[in-house]
Amino acid sequence: MDNNQKLAELLFPNVGTVEELEQRFPQRDLPEGAKVTRFAPSPTGFLHIGGLFTAFASVLAAKESKGVSFLRIEDTDKKREIEDGVTGIIEGFNAFGIEFNEGVTGFNTEKGEYGPYVQSHRAEIYHTVAKQLVQNGLAYPCFCTEEDISAIREKQEEEGAVIKGYFGKWAKCRDLSFEEQERRIKSGEPYVLRLRSQGTGEKRFSFDDVVRGKIEMPENYTDAVLLKTDGIPTYHFAHACDDHFMRVTHVVRGDEWIASVPLHIELFKSCGFKILKYVHVAPVMKEDNGGKRKLSKRKDPEAAVSFFVEEGCPKEAVLEYLLTLINSNFEDWRRANPDSSLFDFGFNFKKMSQSGALFDLVKLQDVCKNVISKMDAKTVSDYVLEWSKVYDPEFYNIISKDTGYLQSVLSIDRGTAKPRKDIAKWSEIKDSVSYLYEELYSEDYTLPENISADEAAKILEAYLSVYDAEDDKDTWFQKIKEMCEPLGYTPNVKEYKKNPDAYKGHVGDISSVIRIAVTSRRNTPDLHAIMSILGKEKVTQRIKNAIDAYTK
Ligand code: GLU
Repeated sequence: MDNNQKLAELLFPNVGTVEELEQRFPQRDLPEGAKVTRFAPSPTGFLHIGGLFTAFASVLAAKESKGVSFLRIEDTDKKREIEDGVTGIIEGFNAFGIEFNEGVTGFNTEKGEYGPYVQSHRAEIYHTVAKQLVQNGLAYPCFCTEEDISAIREKQEEEGAVIKGYFGKWAKCRDLSFEEQERRIKSGEPYVLRLRSQGTGEKRFSFDDVVRGKIEMPENYTDAVLLKTDGIPTYHFAHACDDHFMRVTHVVRGDEWIASVPLHIELFKSCGFKILKYVHVAPVMKEDNGGKRKLSKRKDPEAAVSFFVEEGCPKEAVLEYLLTLINSNFEDWRRANPDSSLFDFGFNFKKMSQSGALFDLVKLQDVCKNVISKMDAKTVSDYVLEWSKVYDPEFYNIISKDTGYLQSVLSIDRGTAKPRKDIAKWSEIKDSVSYLYEELYSEDYTLPENISADEAAKILEAYLSVYDAEDDKDTWFQKIKEMCEPLGYTPNVKEYKKNPDAYKGHVGDISSVIRIAVTSRRNTPDLHAIMSILGKEKVTQRIKNAIDAYTK
Protein backbone atom coordinates (compact mmCIF):
# COMPACT_ATOMS: atom_id res chain seq x y z
CA MET A 1 0.00 0.00 0.00
CA ASP A 2 1.44 3.34 -0.90
CA ASN A 3 1.18 6.29 1.46
CA ASN A 4 -1.85 7.79 -0.30
CA GLN A 5 -3.61 4.47 0.05
CA LYS A 6 -2.67 4.26 3.72
CA LEU A 7 -3.80 7.81 4.34
CA ALA A 8 -7.12 7.17 2.61
CA GLU A 9 -7.76 4.10 4.77
CA LEU A 10 -6.78 5.99 7.88
CA LEU A 11 -9.14 8.88 7.09
CA PHE A 12 -12.09 6.95 5.69
CA PRO A 13 -11.94 3.36 6.91
CA ASN A 14 -15.59 2.52 6.46
CA VAL A 15 -16.73 3.73 3.07
CA GLY A 16 -17.34 1.99 -0.24
CA THR A 17 -16.02 2.96 -3.62
CA VAL A 18 -16.87 5.54 -6.23
CA GLU A 19 -17.60 2.69 -8.68
CA GLU A 20 -20.32 1.48 -6.32
CA LEU A 21 -21.81 4.96 -6.28
CA GLU A 22 -21.70 5.07 -10.08
CA GLN A 23 -23.77 1.89 -10.11
CA ARG A 24 -26.12 2.97 -7.37
CA PHE A 25 -26.95 6.15 -9.27
CA PRO A 26 -26.99 5.08 -12.92
CA GLN A 27 -27.29 7.46 -15.83
CA ARG A 28 -30.91 8.49 -16.18
CA ASP A 29 -32.95 6.87 -18.88
CA LEU A 30 -34.23 9.99 -20.59
CA PRO A 31 -34.84 11.09 -24.18
CA GLU A 32 -31.96 12.70 -26.07
CA GLY A 33 -31.48 16.31 -25.05
CA ALA A 34 -33.50 15.99 -21.85
CA LYS A 35 -32.29 18.40 -19.20
CA VAL A 36 -31.86 17.44 -15.57
CA THR A 37 -31.97 20.52 -13.37
CA ARG A 38 -32.13 21.21 -9.70
CA PHE A 39 -32.90 23.99 -7.29
CA ALA A 40 -30.66 23.81 -4.28
CA PRO A 41 -31.47 26.26 -1.51
CA SER A 42 -30.10 26.38 2.02
CA PRO A 43 -32.85 25.67 4.54
CA THR A 44 -33.26 29.26 5.67
CA GLY A 45 -37.05 29.05 5.74
CA PHE A 46 -37.07 31.94 3.31
CA LEU A 47 -37.86 31.74 -0.38
CA HIS A 48 -36.54 34.80 -2.20
CA ILE A 49 -38.37 35.95 -5.32
CA GLY A 50 -35.04 35.44 -7.12
CA GLY A 51 -35.12 31.84 -5.89
CA LEU A 52 -38.62 31.36 -7.25
CA PHE A 53 -37.37 32.86 -10.52
CA THR A 54 -34.40 30.47 -10.75
CA ALA A 55 -36.41 27.46 -9.64
CA PHE A 56 -39.16 28.25 -12.14
CA ALA A 57 -36.59 28.48 -14.93
CA SER A 58 -35.11 25.12 -13.87
CA VAL A 59 -38.50 23.43 -13.73
CA LEU A 60 -39.55 24.82 -17.11
CA ALA A 61 -36.29 23.83 -18.79
CA ALA A 62 -36.65 20.27 -17.51
CA LYS A 63 -40.30 20.08 -18.50
CA GLU A 64 -39.75 21.56 -21.93
CA SER A 65 -37.05 18.97 -22.69
CA LYS A 66 -38.92 16.02 -21.09
CA GLY A 67 -36.26 15.89 -18.42
CA VAL A 68 -36.29 15.98 -14.63
CA SER A 69 -36.13 18.75 -12.05
CA PHE A 70 -35.58 18.24 -8.36
CA LEU A 71 -35.29 20.11 -5.09
CA ARG A 72 -32.15 19.52 -3.04
CA ILE A 73 -31.60 21.04 0.37
CA GLU A 74 -28.08 22.28 0.98
CA ASP A 75 -27.70 22.29 4.73
CA THR A 76 -23.94 22.15 5.04
CA ASP A 77 -23.67 25.71 6.27
CA LYS A 78 -25.05 25.47 9.76
CA LYS A 79 -24.78 29.23 10.25
CA ARG A 80 -27.45 29.92 7.62
CA GLU A 81 -29.82 27.28 8.83
CA ILE A 82 -32.88 27.64 11.02
CA GLU A 83 -34.91 24.89 12.63
CA ASP A 84 -37.13 23.37 9.97
CA GLY A 85 -36.10 25.86 7.34
CA VAL A 86 -37.45 23.52 4.69
CA THR A 87 -41.19 23.89 5.21
CA GLY A 88 -41.23 27.62 4.45
CA ILE A 89 -39.46 26.99 1.15
CA ILE A 90 -41.75 24.14 0.15
CA GLU A 91 -44.80 26.20 1.09
CA GLY A 92 -43.51 28.98 -1.15
CA PHE A 93 -43.31 26.58 -4.08
CA ASN A 94 -46.68 25.01 -3.31
CA ALA A 95 -48.32 28.42 -3.17
CA PHE A 96 -47.17 29.04 -6.73
CA GLY A 97 -47.83 25.57 -8.09
CA ILE A 98 -44.14 24.94 -8.83
CA GLU A 99 -43.64 21.19 -8.79
CA PHE A 100 -40.35 19.37 -8.93
CA ASN A 101 -40.28 15.81 -10.21
CA GLU A 102 -38.03 14.63 -7.41
CA GLY A 103 -36.38 15.66 -4.21
CA VAL A 104 -37.42 17.08 -0.91
CA THR A 105 -41.19 17.31 -0.49
CA GLY A 106 -41.45 18.41 3.14
CA PHE A 107 -39.81 18.29 6.52
CA ASN A 108 -38.10 14.87 6.43
CA THR A 109 -39.92 13.63 3.31
CA GLU A 110 -38.65 13.19 -0.22
CA LYS A 111 -39.26 11.27 -3.43
CA GLY A 112 -36.97 9.99 -6.17
CA GLU A 113 -34.24 7.42 -6.76
CA TYR A 114 -31.23 9.72 -6.63
CA GLY A 115 -31.41 10.76 -3.00
CA PRO A 116 -31.00 11.41 -0.22
CA TYR A 117 -31.81 14.94 -1.37
CA VAL A 118 -30.67 16.64 1.83
CA GLN A 119 -26.92 17.15 1.96
CA SER A 120 -26.55 16.34 5.63
CA HIS A 121 -27.83 12.84 4.85
CA ARG A 122 -25.18 12.29 2.20
CA ALA A 123 -22.00 12.17 4.31
CA GLU A 124 -21.14 8.67 3.12
CA ILE A 125 -21.22 9.80 -0.52
CA TYR A 126 -18.93 12.77 0.09
CA HIS A 127 -16.54 10.65 2.13
CA THR A 128 -16.41 8.01 -0.57
CA VAL A 129 -15.42 10.58 -3.18
CA ALA A 130 -13.00 12.23 -0.75
CA LYS A 131 -11.36 8.89 -0.12
CA GLN A 132 -10.75 8.42 -3.83
CA LEU A 133 -9.22 11.89 -4.05
CA VAL A 134 -6.86 11.06 -1.18
CA GLN A 135 -5.96 7.76 -2.82
CA ASN A 136 -5.11 9.62 -5.99
CA GLY A 137 -3.01 12.15 -4.13
CA LEU A 138 -5.48 14.93 -4.92
CA ALA A 139 -6.55 15.73 -1.37
CA TYR A 140 -4.82 15.91 1.97
CA PRO A 141 -5.58 16.66 5.62
CA CYS A 142 -4.69 20.14 6.78
CA PHE A 143 -4.17 20.78 10.47
CA CYS A 144 -3.81 24.54 10.28
CA THR A 145 -5.82 26.40 12.86
CA GLU A 146 -7.70 29.64 12.20
CA GLU A 147 -4.72 31.47 13.68
CA ASP A 148 -2.34 29.70 11.30
CA ILE A 149 -4.52 30.73 8.36
CA SER A 150 -4.65 34.36 9.53
CA ALA A 151 -0.89 34.35 9.98
CA ILE A 152 -0.44 33.12 6.40
CA ARG A 153 -2.75 35.87 5.15
CA GLU A 154 -0.85 38.54 7.10
CA LYS A 155 2.45 37.30 5.75
CA GLN A 156 1.09 37.39 2.20
CA GLU A 157 -0.06 40.98 2.77
CA GLU A 158 3.33 41.98 4.17
CA GLU A 159 5.14 40.45 1.24
CA GLY A 160 2.70 42.05 -1.17
CA ALA A 161 1.91 38.65 -2.69
CA VAL A 162 -0.25 39.13 -5.78
CA ILE A 163 -2.03 35.86 -5.27
CA LYS A 164 -3.33 35.12 -1.81
CA GLY A 165 -4.77 32.02 -0.22
CA TYR A 166 -3.74 28.54 0.80
CA PHE A 167 -1.62 27.16 -2.02
CA GLY A 168 1.87 26.26 -3.15
CA LYS A 169 4.59 27.24 -0.71
CA TRP A 170 2.03 28.72 1.68
CA ALA A 171 0.20 25.45 2.04
CA LYS A 172 2.02 24.22 5.11
CA CYS A 173 0.23 20.87 5.32
CA ARG A 174 0.44 20.01 1.65
CA ASP A 175 3.58 17.97 1.91
CA LEU A 176 3.56 16.54 5.40
CA SER A 177 4.97 13.06 5.63
CA PHE A 178 2.56 10.19 6.08
CA GLU A 179 4.09 9.50 9.49
CA GLU A 180 3.34 13.01 10.65
CA GLN A 181 -0.19 12.93 9.22
CA GLU A 182 -0.84 9.61 10.91
CA ARG A 183 0.53 10.78 14.25
CA ARG A 184 -1.53 13.97 14.25
CA ILE A 185 -4.73 12.25 13.14
CA LYS A 186 -4.32 9.52 15.72
CA SER A 187 -3.69 12.07 18.44
CA GLY A 188 -7.09 13.59 17.63
CA GLU A 189 -5.86 16.85 16.18
CA PRO A 190 -8.66 18.51 14.19
CA TYR A 191 -8.14 18.78 10.47
CA VAL A 192 -9.94 19.75 7.30
CA LEU A 193 -9.53 17.95 4.00
CA ARG A 194 -8.11 20.09 1.23
CA LEU A 195 -7.89 19.70 -2.50
CA ARG A 196 -4.33 19.41 -3.75
CA SER A 197 -4.79 21.86 -6.57
CA GLN A 198 -2.94 21.13 -9.80
CA GLY A 199 -3.27 24.76 -10.89
CA THR A 200 -0.54 27.38 -10.69
CA GLY A 201 -2.59 30.53 -11.14
CA GLU A 202 -0.73 31.36 -14.32
CA LYS A 203 -2.93 29.63 -16.84
CA ARG A 204 -6.36 30.78 -17.94
CA PHE A 205 -9.21 28.63 -19.06
CA SER A 206 -12.64 29.26 -20.46
CA PHE A 207 -16.04 27.66 -20.14
CA ASP A 208 -19.31 28.14 -21.98
CA ASP A 209 -21.99 29.52 -19.75
CA VAL A 210 -25.35 28.75 -21.29
CA VAL A 211 -26.66 32.27 -20.60
CA ARG A 212 -23.51 34.33 -21.00
CA GLY A 213 -21.56 32.38 -23.55
CA LYS A 214 -17.80 31.98 -23.27
CA ILE A 215 -16.28 33.19 -20.01
CA GLU A 216 -12.52 33.26 -19.61
CA MET A 217 -10.97 33.10 -16.16
CA PRO A 218 -7.71 32.21 -14.42
CA GLU A 219 -7.62 28.55 -13.47
CA ASN A 220 -7.95 27.54 -9.84
CA TYR A 221 -4.77 27.27 -7.82
CA THR A 222 -5.91 27.21 -4.19
CA ASP A 223 -6.09 24.13 -2.06
CA ALA A 224 -9.75 24.68 -1.25
CA VAL A 225 -11.34 23.02 1.74
CA LEU A 226 -13.46 20.03 0.71
CA LEU A 227 -14.48 18.69 4.12
CA LYS A 228 -14.62 20.79 7.24
CA THR A 229 -13.28 19.61 10.61
CA ASP A 230 -16.60 17.93 11.38
CA GLY A 231 -16.48 16.01 8.09
CA ILE A 232 -19.22 18.15 6.56
CA PRO A 233 -18.45 19.16 2.98
CA THR A 234 -18.17 22.71 1.73
CA TYR A 235 -20.68 23.85 -0.86
CA HIS A 236 -18.07 23.44 -3.60
CA PHE A 237 -17.34 19.80 -2.93
CA ALA A 238 -20.93 18.86 -2.15
CA HIS A 239 -22.14 20.48 -5.35
CA ALA A 240 -19.69 18.47 -7.44
CA CYS A 241 -20.61 15.14 -5.82
CA ASP A 242 -24.34 15.81 -5.79
CA ASP A 243 -24.72 17.19 -9.27
CA HIS A 244 -22.67 14.31 -10.60
CA PHE A 245 -24.45 11.48 -8.82
CA MET A 246 -27.88 13.03 -9.19
CA ARG A 247 -27.08 13.08 -12.89
CA VAL A 248 -27.71 16.77 -13.38
CA THR A 249 -27.08 18.10 -16.88
CA HIS A 250 -27.51 21.85 -16.22
CA VAL A 251 -26.43 23.58 -13.03
CA VAL A 252 -28.85 26.51 -12.81
CA ARG A 253 -27.82 28.88 -10.05
CA GLY A 254 -27.21 32.50 -9.09
CA ASP A 255 -24.40 34.29 -10.92
CA GLU A 256 -22.59 34.97 -7.64
CA TRP A 257 -21.15 31.47 -8.19
CA ILE A 258 -19.38 32.35 -11.44
CA ALA A 259 -16.22 33.24 -9.51
CA SER A 260 -16.14 29.70 -8.12
CA VAL A 261 -16.37 27.96 -11.49
CA PRO A 262 -12.58 27.50 -11.83
CA LEU A 263 -12.55 25.59 -8.55
CA HIS A 264 -15.65 23.62 -9.51
CA ILE A 265 -14.21 22.59 -12.83
CA GLU A 266 -11.00 21.48 -11.17
CA LEU A 267 -13.04 19.52 -8.65
CA PHE A 268 -15.06 17.75 -11.34
CA LYS A 269 -11.86 16.86 -13.16
CA SER A 270 -10.09 15.66 -10.02
CA CYS A 271 -13.06 13.49 -9.12
CA GLY A 272 -13.21 12.06 -12.65
CA PHE A 273 -16.67 13.53 -13.21
CA LYS A 274 -17.97 14.78 -16.52
CA ILE A 275 -18.11 18.60 -16.61
CA LEU A 276 -21.69 19.88 -16.58
CA LYS A 277 -23.30 22.82 -18.28
CA TYR A 278 -23.53 25.94 -16.17
CA VAL A 279 -26.48 28.33 -16.35
CA HIS A 280 -25.71 31.38 -14.24
CA VAL A 281 -28.82 33.40 -13.61
CA ALA A 282 -28.57 37.14 -13.02
CA PRO A 283 -30.25 38.39 -9.84
CA VAL A 284 -33.65 40.03 -9.73
CA MET A 285 -33.12 43.78 -9.41
CA LYS A 286 -35.02 46.75 -8.12
CA GLU A 287 -34.91 50.37 -9.18
CA ASP A 288 -33.58 52.50 -6.37
CA ASN A 289 -32.73 56.18 -6.53
CA GLY A 290 -32.36 56.11 -10.28
CA GLY A 291 -30.01 53.11 -10.10
CA LYS A 292 -30.45 49.37 -9.97
CA ARG A 293 -29.68 47.09 -7.07
CA LYS A 294 -30.39 43.52 -6.04
CA LEU A 295 -33.73 42.93 -4.35
CA SER A 296 -32.72 42.64 -0.74
CA LYS A 297 -34.16 40.27 1.82
CA ARG A 298 -33.44 42.86 4.49
CA LYS A 299 -34.76 46.00 2.82
CA ASP A 300 -37.53 44.92 0.46
CA PRO A 301 -40.62 43.11 1.69
CA GLU A 302 -41.30 42.00 -1.88
CA ALA A 303 -38.06 40.01 -1.88
CA ALA A 304 -39.93 37.31 0.03
CA VAL A 305 -42.22 35.06 -1.95
CA SER A 306 -44.49 34.93 1.12
CA PHE A 307 -45.21 38.66 0.61
CA PHE A 308 -47.16 37.89 -2.56
CA VAL A 309 -49.01 35.05 -0.90
CA GLU A 310 -50.00 37.23 2.06
CA GLU A 311 -51.07 40.11 -0.17
CA GLY A 312 -53.10 37.71 -2.26
CA CYS A 313 -51.50 38.19 -5.67
CA PRO A 314 -52.79 35.44 -7.93
CA LYS A 315 -50.08 32.85 -8.36
CA GLU A 316 -50.72 32.69 -12.11
CA ALA A 317 -50.00 36.40 -12.39
CA VAL A 318 -46.79 36.29 -10.38
CA LEU A 319 -45.50 33.43 -12.52
CA GLU A 320 -46.71 35.14 -15.67
CA TYR A 321 -44.84 38.27 -14.66
CA LEU A 322 -41.72 36.30 -13.76
CA LEU A 323 -41.79 34.74 -17.21
CA THR A 324 -41.80 38.15 -18.83
CA LEU A 325 -38.59 38.78 -16.86
CA ILE A 326 -37.09 35.36 -17.46
CA ASN A 327 -37.48 35.02 -21.23
CA SER A 328 -37.52 37.93 -23.64
CA ASN A 329 -39.78 36.08 -26.10
CA PHE A 330 -42.47 35.21 -23.55
CA GLU A 331 -44.71 38.18 -24.31
CA ASP A 332 -44.82 37.33 -28.02
CA TRP A 333 -45.68 33.76 -27.14
CA ARG A 334 -48.41 34.94 -24.79
CA ARG A 335 -49.97 37.12 -27.46
CA ALA A 336 -50.05 34.16 -29.83
CA ASN A 337 -51.30 31.77 -27.13
CA PRO A 338 -53.52 33.83 -24.85
CA ASP A 339 -55.18 30.88 -23.16
CA SER A 340 -52.33 28.39 -22.87
CA SER A 341 -50.87 27.26 -19.57
CA LEU A 342 -47.63 28.98 -18.62
CA PHE A 343 -46.07 25.59 -18.24
CA ASP A 344 -46.46 25.02 -21.99
CA PHE A 345 -44.23 27.95 -22.87
CA GLY A 346 -41.15 26.70 -24.74
CA PHE A 347 -38.66 28.03 -22.24
CA ASN A 348 -35.10 28.61 -23.40
CA PHE A 349 -32.10 29.34 -21.17
CA LYS A 350 -30.43 31.18 -24.03
CA LYS A 351 -33.12 33.86 -23.94
CA MET A 352 -32.46 34.74 -20.31
CA SER A 353 -31.21 38.20 -19.53
CA GLN A 354 -27.51 38.49 -18.75
CA SER A 355 -27.97 41.55 -16.63
CA GLY A 356 -30.43 41.48 -13.76
CA ALA A 357 -34.09 41.74 -14.68
CA LEU A 358 -35.87 44.65 -13.06
CA PHE A 359 -38.71 43.63 -10.78
CA ASP A 360 -41.39 46.28 -11.04
CA LEU A 361 -44.27 46.02 -8.59
CA VAL A 362 -46.43 48.35 -10.68
CA LYS A 363 -46.05 46.17 -13.77
CA LEU A 364 -46.77 43.12 -11.66
CA GLN A 365 -50.00 44.77 -10.53
CA ASP A 366 -51.04 45.30 -14.12
CA VAL A 367 -50.39 41.67 -14.91
CA CYS A 368 -52.37 40.68 -11.80
CA LYS A 369 -55.30 42.84 -12.90
CA ASN A 370 -55.24 41.34 -16.35
CA VAL A 371 -55.05 37.79 -15.11
CA ILE A 372 -57.87 38.30 -12.60
CA SER A 373 -60.02 40.04 -15.22
CA LYS A 374 -59.90 36.89 -17.33
CA MET A 375 -60.98 34.57 -14.52
CA ASP A 376 -64.60 33.57 -14.15
CA ALA A 377 -66.52 34.45 -11.00
CA LYS A 378 -66.29 30.94 -9.61
CA THR A 379 -62.49 30.91 -9.89
CA VAL A 380 -62.17 34.32 -8.26
CA SER A 381 -64.59 33.26 -5.58
CA ASP A 382 -62.59 30.08 -4.82
CA TYR A 383 -59.36 32.05 -4.62
CA VAL A 384 -60.70 34.79 -2.39
CA LEU A 385 -62.25 32.23 -0.05
CA GLU A 386 -58.98 30.29 0.14
CA TRP A 387 -56.95 33.45 0.71
CA SER A 388 -59.26 35.09 3.25
CA LYS A 389 -59.60 31.92 5.30
CA VAL A 390 -55.94 32.33 6.23
CA TYR A 391 -55.29 36.05 5.94
CA ASP A 392 -58.61 37.75 6.71
CA PRO A 393 -60.84 35.38 8.70
CA GLU A 394 -63.37 38.12 9.48
CA PHE A 395 -63.97 38.66 5.77
CA TYR A 396 -63.98 34.90 5.22
CA ASN A 397 -66.78 34.44 7.76
CA ILE A 398 -68.87 37.01 5.93
CA ILE A 399 -68.39 35.80 2.38
CA SER A 400 -68.39 32.07 3.05
CA LYS A 401 -71.96 32.19 4.38
CA ASP A 402 -73.35 32.34 0.86
CA THR A 403 -70.93 31.46 -1.91
CA GLY A 404 -73.66 31.76 -4.54
CA TYR A 405 -74.14 35.38 -3.51
CA LEU A 406 -70.35 35.87 -3.52
CA GLN A 407 -70.18 34.57 -7.07
CA SER A 408 -72.91 36.93 -8.25
CA VAL A 409 -71.07 39.82 -6.58
CA LEU A 410 -67.88 38.80 -8.37
CA SER A 411 -69.63 38.32 -11.68
CA ILE A 412 -70.39 42.04 -12.05
CA ASP A 413 -68.67 43.23 -15.24
CA ARG A 414 -66.94 39.88 -15.64
CA GLY A 415 -67.06 37.68 -18.73
CA THR A 416 -67.83 40.67 -20.92
CA ALA A 417 -65.82 41.91 -23.89
CA LYS A 418 -64.32 44.56 -21.62
CA PRO A 419 -64.05 42.89 -18.23
CA ARG A 420 -63.29 45.01 -15.19
CA LYS A 421 -59.62 45.32 -14.39
CA ASP A 422 -59.78 46.95 -11.01
CA ILE A 423 -58.59 44.13 -8.77
CA ALA A 424 -54.91 43.27 -8.49
CA LYS A 425 -55.00 41.02 -5.44
CA TRP A 426 -57.41 39.12 -3.23
CA SER A 427 -56.81 41.53 -0.37
CA GLU A 428 -58.43 44.31 -2.44
CA ILE A 429 -61.69 42.48 -2.92
CA LYS A 430 -63.03 43.25 0.54
CA ASP A 431 -62.99 46.95 -0.11
CA SER A 432 -64.24 46.62 -3.64
CA VAL A 433 -67.35 44.64 -2.63
CA SER A 434 -67.98 46.13 0.82
CA TYR A 435 -71.20 47.91 -0.26
CA LEU A 436 -72.68 44.56 -1.23
CA TYR A 437 -72.37 43.20 2.32
CA GLU A 438 -74.31 44.80 5.16
CA GLU A 439 -71.60 43.75 7.63
CA LEU A 440 -69.01 45.75 5.69
CA TYR A 441 -71.15 48.60 4.47
CA SER A 442 -70.76 52.08 5.90
CA GLU A 443 -72.85 54.98 4.70
CA ASP A 444 -71.24 57.97 3.06
CA TYR A 445 -73.64 60.27 1.28
CA THR A 446 -71.14 62.94 0.28
CA LEU A 447 -72.34 64.51 -2.98
CA PRO A 448 -70.41 66.06 -5.87
CA GLU A 449 -70.11 69.82 -5.41
CA ASN A 450 -72.65 70.68 -8.10
CA ILE A 451 -75.50 68.86 -6.35
CA SER A 452 -77.09 70.06 -3.13
CA ALA A 453 -78.64 67.80 -0.50
CA ASP A 454 -82.14 69.13 -1.34
CA GLU A 455 -81.61 68.43 -4.97
CA ALA A 456 -80.35 64.91 -4.24
CA ALA A 457 -83.40 64.22 -2.06
CA LYS A 458 -85.67 65.35 -4.91
CA ILE A 459 -83.91 63.12 -7.41
CA LEU A 460 -84.14 60.14 -5.09
CA GLU A 461 -87.86 60.71 -4.36
CA ALA A 462 -88.46 60.83 -8.09
CA TYR A 463 -86.45 57.69 -8.60
CA LEU A 464 -88.29 55.75 -5.91
CA SER A 465 -91.55 56.43 -7.69
CA VAL A 466 -90.31 54.79 -10.92
CA TYR A 467 -87.94 52.15 -9.51
CA ASP A 468 -88.93 48.61 -10.37
CA ALA A 469 -86.50 45.88 -9.36
CA GLU A 470 -87.69 43.74 -12.28
CA ASP A 471 -86.56 46.19 -14.97
CA ASP A 472 -83.90 44.99 -17.35
CA LYS A 473 -80.87 47.16 -17.91
CA ASP A 474 -82.27 49.11 -20.86
CA THR A 475 -85.60 49.86 -19.18
CA TRP A 476 -83.77 50.78 -15.99
CA PHE A 477 -81.62 53.30 -17.83
CA GLN A 478 -84.52 54.56 -19.93
CA LYS A 479 -86.34 55.42 -16.71
CA ILE A 480 -83.37 57.38 -15.42
CA LYS A 481 -83.22 59.30 -18.68
CA GLU A 482 -86.90 60.03 -18.51
CA MET A 483 -86.46 61.50 -15.04
CA CYS A 484 -84.14 64.17 -16.43
CA GLU A 485 -86.40 66.72 -18.04
CA PRO A 486 -89.06 67.10 -15.32
CA LEU A 487 -86.20 67.70 -12.85
CA GLY A 488 -84.45 70.26 -15.08
CA TYR A 489 -81.64 67.95 -16.36
CA THR A 490 -80.87 66.73 -19.87
CA PRO A 491 -80.53 63.07 -20.84
CA ASN A 492 -77.96 64.15 -23.38
CA VAL A 493 -74.44 64.81 -22.08
CA LYS A 494 -73.28 66.45 -25.34
CA GLU A 495 -76.26 68.76 -25.25
CA TYR A 496 -75.36 69.72 -21.69
CA LYS A 497 -71.79 70.52 -22.69
CA LYS A 498 -73.02 72.75 -25.51
CA ASN A 499 -75.54 74.55 -23.31
CA PRO A 500 -74.58 74.22 -19.67
CA ASP A 501 -76.63 77.19 -18.51
CA ALA A 502 -79.87 75.73 -19.83
CA TYR A 503 -79.84 72.76 -17.35
CA LYS A 504 -79.12 71.91 -13.76
CA GLY A 505 -77.04 69.00 -15.00
CA HIS A 506 -77.23 65.83 -17.09
CA VAL A 507 -78.20 62.20 -16.79
CA GLY A 508 -74.80 61.38 -15.29
CA ASP A 509 -75.60 63.57 -12.28
CA ILE A 510 -78.89 61.78 -11.75
CA SER A 511 -77.26 58.36 -11.85
CA SER A 512 -74.47 59.61 -9.57
CA VAL A 513 -76.98 60.53 -6.91
CA ILE A 514 -78.65 57.13 -7.19
CA ARG A 515 -75.27 55.40 -7.12
CA ILE A 516 -74.18 57.26 -3.99
CA ALA A 517 -77.47 56.49 -2.25
CA VAL A 518 -77.26 52.79 -3.07
CA THR A 519 -73.53 52.18 -2.62
CA SER A 520 -72.07 55.20 -0.80
CA ARG A 521 -69.52 55.45 -3.63
CA ARG A 522 -69.05 57.70 -6.58
CA ASN A 523 -67.53 55.03 -8.78
CA THR A 524 -68.74 51.49 -9.06
CA PRO A 525 -69.05 48.90 -11.76
CA ASP A 526 -72.42 48.38 -13.46
CA LEU A 527 -75.02 49.97 -11.15
CA HIS A 528 -77.92 48.01 -12.60
CA ALA A 529 -76.14 44.76 -11.79
CA ILE A 530 -75.37 45.99 -8.29
CA MET A 531 -79.00 46.91 -7.67
CA SER A 532 -80.19 43.54 -8.96
CA ILE A 533 -77.85 41.74 -6.59
CA LEU A 534 -78.86 43.88 -3.60
CA GLY A 535 -82.56 43.34 -4.38
CA LYS A 536 -85.58 45.53 -4.07
CA GLU A 537 -85.79 45.68 -0.32
CA LYS A 538 -82.22 46.76 0.31
CA VAL A 539 -82.15 49.21 -2.57
CA THR A 540 -85.37 50.88 -1.40
CA GLN A 541 -84.15 51.00 2.16
CA ARG A 542 -80.80 52.51 1.21
CA ILE A 543 -82.45 55.16 -0.96
CA LYS A 544 -84.82 56.05 1.87
CA ASN A 545 -81.91 56.28 4.31
CA ALA A 546 -80.14 58.64 1.92
CA ILE A 547 -83.25 60.82 1.56
CA ASP A 548 -83.46 60.98 5.36
CA ALA A 549 -79.83 62.01 5.56
CA TYR A 550 -80.30 64.74 2.94
CA THR A 551 -83.47 66.15 4.47
CA LYS A 552 -82.39 66.19 8.10
N1 GLU B 1 -27.01 26.32 -1.83
C1 GLU B 1 -26.57 27.31 -2.76
C2 GLU B 1 -27.17 28.66 -2.37
O1 GLU B 1 -28.12 28.66 -1.60
C3 GLU B 1 -27.08 26.98 -4.13
C4 GLU B 1 -26.15 27.13 -5.22
C5 GLU B 1 -26.49 26.15 -6.31
O2 GLU B 1 -27.65 26.15 -6.76
O3 GLU B 1 -25.65 25.37 -6.71
O4 GLU B 1 -26.70 29.66 -2.83
